[in-house]
Amino acid sequence: MKRSPYVRFASRNKGEEKPFRFDLKIVIFSIALVILAADIFGLYPHAEFNYITNFILFTVFFTAVYFIDLKKTTLGGRAVNRMNYGLGLMFLTLACVSGGISSPLKWLVMVLIIMILTARDFKAGMIMAAAMLAVFIKDRDKFTQQDVFMFAVIAGFAAVTYFRNVKSGNIPGAETLKLVETDKDSRHFKTVIYNLLESLLLLYHDILKPVSLLYFIRDEQRGGIFALTMSVSTKESEVIKDYSFDIKEGLLGAALNKNMFFPFDAKGARMPYYSEKVEVKTAATIPVVLNRTIGAVVIDFDREINDEKENIKEKLKDLCGEIVSIMELYDINYKVITKEQRVSRMYEINEKLNLMEGKSGLMRDFLNEIRSFDIYSGYLAEYNPEDNTFEVSESFNYPSTVKGTKFNARENEFLRYLMHTGKSIVIDNAAKKNIPLNFNRLNLDKNLISLLKHGDSVYGFMKLDKEKGYVFPEFEIRTLEMMLSRITVMLENAALYEKIKKQAYHDGLTGLLNHLTFQEKLRESLEKKNKGEIRCVSLCVLDIDFFKKFNDSFGHEEGDRVLKKMAVMLADFEKRYERTYCARYGGEEFVFVLENYDIYSAIKIADDMRKYSEANLKGGNEKEKRPIYVSIGVTSYPEFARDPRELFKNADEALYLAKEEGRNRVKSTLDMKKVERRKR
Ligand code: GH3
Ligand code: MG
Ligand code: MG
Repeated sequence: MKRSPYVRFASRNKGEEKPFRFDLKIVIFSIALVILAADIFGLYPHAEFNYITNFILFTVFFTAVYFIDLKKTTLGGRAVNRMNYGLGLMFLTLACVSGGISSPLKWLVMVLIIMILTARDFKAGMIMAAAMLAVFIKDRDKFTQQDVFMFAVIAGFAAVTYFRNVKSGNIPGAETLKLVETDKDSRHFKTVIYNLLESLLLLYHDILKPVSLLYFIRDEQRGGIFALTMSVSTKESEVIKDYSFDIKEGLLGAALNKNMFFPFDAKGARMPYYSEKVEVKTAATIPVVLNRTIGAVVIDFDREINDEKENIKEKLKDLCGEIVSIMELYDINYKVITKEQRVSRMYEINEKLNLMEGKSGLMRDFLNEIRSFDIYSGYLAEYNPEDNTFEVSESFNYPSTVKGTKFNARENEFLRYLMHTGKSIVIDNAAKKNIPLNFNRLNLDKNLISLLKHGDSVYGFMKLDKEKGYVFPEFEIRTLEMMLSRITVMLENAALYEKIKKQAYHDGLTGLLNHLTFQEKLRESLEKKNKGEIRCVSLCVLDIDFFKKFNDSFGHEEGDRVLKKMAVMLADFEKRYERTYCARYGGEEFVFVLENYDIYSAIKIADDMRKYSEANLKGGNEKEKRPIYVSIGVTSYPEFARDPRELFKNADEALYLAKEEGRNRVKSTLDMKKVERRKR
């Protein structure tokens, strides 16, 4: 699936953060070394702290520790660690200044080491312990029994935490979400999981149309805070990527504490996961529960949702259910070690992904599942409530021409009945009755027609046919109905999925193919020529003349309308000439590709476009309407170019020539050659 521009993940992959962490460790370690070296070489002015100074320092220390711990959840684990490092360095300095080993401040450093060890940051803890040890060795004449005891305590703590972690299967330092990345397929697995979550969120974002839909994972290692894992938002740039919250605090915590779907009025409130003020009217939270709460879904809208509340609740529940099943697999992967087991899990997930594959894929799977039922042929027709029709969208064992056929739900007696009762219909002896739904196929003797319905909304119907001599037994009908009710939800999802996919491949303003898709298609066209399926490929690049001026005179909106008109014209030409397609290349530039047209016919068609635009496309305001002039560059493959890049370059040069010679004209590589010859 193409990634939609407004989806992104908060990075949960420790590996990606590595450069930063690495740097931090080096900095801390270097500073600690400098401090110690300064102490060893006696560069400090040594001081004896009195009781009052010591008291103040102790107070400062414990207050700092207290506040860092208090704000742990909002600060995030890494920030807490960094602060602890800072404190550690500060007190290491103080310990050295105040006489090294004999200083009571060393106890503070020890406390910090223990804290870092219990927070499972072993490396940091060990570095600090080593630093302490160095101070002790330097001042070994002052070494007391107390110090031995202190080291024993640190070692004991370290051992206990380490073995506890190993036993519970946690790798020290691992985050809850981090997968055991032992090999490639595991990483691949993670990608699959993320893709799956992504498609899910996209899907539900598309269904519910909120501003943002966010998924938070509860992070046990960071005190059970909810960390933003993935979001789909129309205000993507405002969403704070590594936002997290505590269930004990704030708006989201309070809402989530209700432990169910909880919508609330968010007018005037600032949703904490936005960096800038984003206006929302309503928001809702819902916990994701798998035995216990493992995450949360947060959604916000820039509209009132009073009438939609029930629907949103149901949909969010569905979403949470889907997330749970994905997270289960995620969790299993975390524990599963053997490759075979992981592969089988992968397979399961892939199956899930395939459900999003599209309608034809679903239809194929469905037919595959019912192979033993002796179905001869069938089709799927989708309902369009606007004109109350059913349109055939997928078929099997029918001529491909049936696709696109429309049946009016009111005019067809079977469909009327179907819509009215919602029950399946079985037609016997269909061959003897003239049933339009059968497209005059006389060998179809029995039909089963089932309405595909999800809640109150009709998706369409499925028609399955059997030949003479076969029957639809009762149990088969029941089974089929059951399967169809399941498939309806998937079809709805697939339809949405296809819609989303369309958004990725098409330009938002004009609906034409976008730049990327054009590149892809052009490559395919040239490939066809290379395989000998077609003789040549011609390319036209169109650029509207003086469009900047037009925008300046009539405004950008009117400019946009002109672009749309141009797109309609191109789509018309695309329909008129077989094996052609068009795309919006960018801005006010369009491309038109003609497979199997040589440069001469391409020039002719391009000139028709230019003339049509001049005569029929107008833009402006009430006072003034201006014709739209366009310049076009034409070239052809393989005669004038070896690859797509050269092809495009040639067309662009021809376009430039057209502009140079006064605009509103068509120029081609043939003209370029003439110009070159003249120059020589
Ligand atoms: P020329 O005849 O040389 O092509 O002149 P031009 O003004 O059309 O050329 P130029 O490429 O310099 O300007 C293109 C202008 O198209 C710039 C911009 O204002 C306008 N434009 C680009 N994309 C859009 C769009 O999506 N909508 C609108 N309304 N205008 C756009
Ligand atoms: Mg331009
Ligand atoms: Mg232009």
